[in-house]
Amino acid sequence: MEAAYVAMCGVFLLCDKEGKEMTVNVLGTEYTIKETNKVDDTNLETCDGYCDTSTKTIVIDTFKDSPGSLGDLEAYKKKVVRHELAHAFLYESGLSCNSWAKDEEVVDWIALQFPKLLTAFEQCGAI
Ligand SMILES: [Zn+2]
Repeated sequence: MEAAYVAMCGVFLLCDKEGKEMTVNVLGTEYTIKETNKVDDTNLETCDGYCDTSTKTIVIDTFKDSPGSLGDLEAYKKKVVRHELAHAFLYESGLSCNSWAKDEEVVDWIALQFPKLLTAFEQCGAI
């Protein structure tokens, strides 16, 4: 995914190479990915990102002016996007009411391990 961020009214939209708003197909449903901050979106006060299944929007914190931020914010933000996308896939699969599918540890495991799983699958031609 090659992407860039475009600022609009304090909200940064994840955009593709042509500057179009970044959307991702989640099991047939388009989700928009946006980046903003805790000042402009109070939903981010207690998290680094969230998935709003009602508006089909994934919101990621810019971490601008966040003291104590991680050294590699780009890598962390990518992990947060994967985490929120995992929530979207679980929701669109009809699994959001299952206790394991709401378990943040399970969702974070998917987000953290997926790149390694993909590499292993590709290395042995299983994908
Ligand atoms: Zn989560």
